[in-house]
Amino acid sequence: MQTSVQGSRTSASGQAAGTLAERVERALQDDFLRRAVQFTTQRLRHNKQQAAAALGQWEAWRERGRQIRAHTVAHLDRYLQQFVENVRRHGGHVHFAADAAEAVHLVVQLACDRGVRLAVKSKSMVSEEVHLNDGLTAAGVRVVETDLGEYIIQLAGEPPSHLIAPAIHKNREQIRDLFCAAGGRGLTTDTPSLAGFARQQLRQLFLTADLGISGCNFAIAETGTVVLFTNEGNGRMVTSLPRTHIVMLGMERLLPTLADLEVMANLLPRSATGQKLTAYMTLLTGPRREGEGDGPEELHVVVLDNGRSNLLGDPAFQDVLHCIRCGACLNVCPVYRQVGGHAYGSVYPGPIGAVLTPLLQPGPETADLPYASSLCGACFEACPVKIPLHDLLVRLRQRNVERGWVKPGERLAWYAFQRTFARPGRYRRVMRLARWAQAGRVQAGELAQAPGPLRGWTASRQAPALAARSFQERWSALAAELRERPAAKEDANDA
Ligand code: SF4
Repeated sequence: MQTSVQGSRTSASGQAAGTLAERVERALQDDFLRRAVQFTTQRLRHNKQQAAAALGQWEAWRERGRQIRAHTVAHLDRYLQQFVENVRRHGGHVHFAADAAEAVHLVVQLACDRGVRLAVKSKSMVSEEVHLNDGLTAAGVRVVETDLGEYIIQLAGEPPSHLIAPAIHKNREQIRDLFCAAGGRGLTTDTPSLAGFARQQLRQLFLTADLGISGCNFAIAETGTVVLFTNEGNGRMVTSLPRTHIVMLGMERLLPTLADLEVMANLLPRSATGQKLTAYMTLLTGPRREGEGDGPEELHVVVLDNGRSNLLGDPAFQDVLHCIRCGACLNVCPVYRQVGGHAYGSVYPGPIGAVLTPLLQPGPETADLPYASSLCGACFEACPVKIPLHDLLVRLRQRNVERGWVKPGERLAWYAFQRTFARPGRYRRVMRLARWAQAGRVQAGELAQAPGPLRGWTASRQAPALAARSFQERWSALAAELRERPAAKEDANDA
């Protein structure tokens, strides 16, 4: 029985529609989504804490991870060249894509030249970034996601909402309904039934697909090896059964040596899922060699730039290229935990998305993402390679101001703030006005409802009311009282 899986899932969902504020509002109204995201992120956070504690010396591991990623990115040209030479030495092919359109064109061309009708994919955020499924589907190639979470959201026609748990926002009942609709038969909501359905559907596709497409967690420069961390075994099927294997590689995901991989193999699974190691860690070096039992006849690596090289050498933002896409910063973020991934409207959600998306796609349409943060710094604390995401978010806000990408209302508010605080007399008059404006709105020392455009602030937060008298007024009154006292004493002595 065949499912009706479609390739495209970015347009149908409509979840990316609207402004950030509108998307956040929609997410906040969705109680189920919020419960599901909070439940899973809490579990992932807990698992990670346990795994990090069990490993021991977590801060030393983090520091070593930071050093490796910083060194690699600082010498990316050298390591990329070494990686390319080694892939070619082992019989693979490497293609460079300057942007998303070129990456899609390259893959579609490779598929069409080989008469591909069916492609199976394992999880790849780079392929999401370039909207590869849309391009292949338009070219007549059926694309099926084989990671269970990705398979679910492909059936739903939605983009992923988490870096490592793409269907984090779905519950069993919703998944059962999707599978029933796809398979044309009834199913129960227990895990064996749901997983069994997906396994049965996908197994036949693995055997008949002409093309396998995968992402790449790390690419090893010294050997030309592509490394995948997976839990379901689908990655191995995708990379070994079809005749052709295409790897989608973000150009920064290099590691110099296999020894460096040891450090990352300790950091990535623990940070992502709290596992010591994922169920499968796959190292692929070149296509199938003579005498080998499995593996593709052809291996192609598509190296994607898409704005990354603009960040190289930029001291303000280069650190973002150290990211190993573990998702740990999402799980601790107080914003992500409330609204989930679709509210960000970008392929990369959470704190890393709020930094990466405006850097890879700079423009007014992505400029509001750095404001989707409380700047609490929890993302930095969680990051296994110590990316100072909160600093990068502030720098992006500063860049918005420099480029004029701020709303007129915000510009006006800061202008008024600057004018008010520039002159003591003006400040005092404004404060008197504010105290007058809050009259009748104070309950138990708190502002029950702020007036005018500030109403949204107090709708979900507590704001202390302005004191009835300012510190300066009280200080002046106290000084006057002290001045009066000696005179009063003398009067008493005279009497
Ligand atoms: S920024 Fe750090 S915590 Fe967030 S996904 Fe990247 S490596 Fe993981």
